[in-house]
Amino acid sequence: MNVLFVNPNSLLKNYQTLASKYAAIETPTWALLLAESCRSKGFKVGILDANAEGLNPEDALKKIRSIKPSFICLVVYGQNVNAGTTNMIGAVELTNYIKSNEPDFRIGLIGSHIQALPKETMEKEKSIDIGFINEGVYALHNLLKLEDLSPPNLANINGIIFRDKNKIIFNKAEIVVPQNKMDEDLPGYAWDLLPFKNKPLDLYRAPLWHAEYQDEFRSPYAAIQTSIGCQFKCSFCMINIINKNDNEEIGIASNYSGMRFWSTEFIIKEFKKLFNLGVYTIKITDEMFLLNQKFYLPLCELLAKENKNDQLKMWAYSRIDTIKSPEILNKVRRAGIKWLCLGIESGSKKIRLEVSKGKFEDVDVERIVRQIEDADINVMANYIYGLPGDTKETIEETFQLSKNLNTLGWNTYAAMALPGSQLYKEAKDEGKKIPLDYDEFSFHSYKTKPLSTKALHDYQILELRDKKFEEYFSSGNFHLKIINKFGKVASETIKSMLKIKLKREIIEKSLL
Ligand code: SF4
Repeated sequence: MNVLFVNPNSLLKNYQTLASKYAAIETPTWALLLAESCRSKGFKVGILDANAEGLNPEDALKKIRSIKPSFICLVVYGQNVNAGTTNMIGAVELTNYIKSNEPDFRIGLIGSHIQALPKETMEKEKSIDIGFINEGVYALHNLLKLEDLSPPNLANINGIIFRDKNKIIFNKAEIVVPQNKMDEDLPGYAWDLLPFKNKPLDLYRAPLWHAEYQDEFRSPYAAIQTSIGCQFKCSFCMINIINKNDNEEIGIASNYSGMRFWSTEFIIKEFKKLFNLGVYTIKITDEMFLLNQKFYLPLCELLAKENKNDQLKMWAYSRIDTIKSPEILNKVRRAGIKWLCLGIESGSKKIRLEVSKGKFEDVDVERIVRQIEDADINVMANYIYGLPGDTKETIEETFQLSKNLNTLGWNTYAAMALPGSQLYKEAKDEGKKIPLDYDEFSFHSYKTKPLSTKALHDYQILELRDKKFEEYFSSGNFHLKIINKFGKVASETIKSMLKIKLKREIIEKSLL
């Protein structure tokens, strides 16, 4: 085998006790895309999903030894914006273990963290031989043609950074797959390479809310993208680092904003492959699905034809200022999209406009949410506490807005200086304390370390986030709406989830 793509297992450290039952297990999108791309060029490929199989480093190495790949390529992204960095926990735990037992194995790393901080990552992680500076498609095609992946042979492979004894060598940059080559050079997903227990994709599970808070709808589950990247430049977000096409040592996602799309005819075939495998619970991962009608409406029409008996349970992202009309929402709903995930971020208009770099149109959030719900689409509302300028009062304003909206899904994160985001670069330039360990970037870990604001310490913001989580999910109004829409079982599941309390180191320390 020329290359084994490995999705590392970081579940336990990222999610604490939520990991065993409640955390989602998503299909490894980029491992699937890269595997299919390399396979289409004639290379022999495989995928080891240590996350889905729950493998520890020892078991993962046993499997790798039996497969004997020429190149082991860790692909480290994640289901949340921060996850590319937090999943580095499992990635380096595995690569360190492999290197200490098999020093001659050649190990590579692709993912958002190394895209954002290539030099720093290579200096820190001695078990990585080759890092990919961007999404890695063309660098991989060229690298896999080499018979021997030793340092002298790597000098002409654009888009990589590699280790030659004690030196770190940065090669020339490489382009990302251009729009006109998307169907050809990223030709879909290698679904057949994923592990399963009884039937395809049954090791993957949707977030609880996506499954209407009922376990039976969580699996089988898959995530699929119809486009890559986002045209906006929000300062807290690092999504567009995927489009990086230069050798900046600290990449800033907003410098690479832009979208690339697969053709409708192409991507509907990928959806159909999933339906044929019996998968109806699907996440459309696009950062901005409901943006350009030219792309999403034809796809929705084709999906509606496949949505027999309304069997599809899909969700997609949208911004609140890109929802256009009830007619369009009806078309989206007919396509089987039953949830829209909205980045509402803050109850304070001033803060919202600031972090979105003025690209947010000033909209009536409440009106939009009601419009979506009137189209029988549920809303997963996302908020962030601790954005620049946040105070106790503005956070309360954000919480009250969320209570008034009373959406069926609610996610709130404490703002982080995520590598790859503008906030990270600003925090670094201002000499602010930035987390050193990967698990400090996780939203749900023991070590979580969010940013502080001028008015609030990091532990105060995290404490507010955890308290408001409990308050929201205990609210009588919320449970009433849940029972009306999804039944009593859903309400009971939420109550069980609430029994799990996250431990937070910085809050504990503040009490000493
Ligand atoms: S709109 Fe969403 S995906 Fe796009 S930059 Fe802003 S937060 Fe990121």
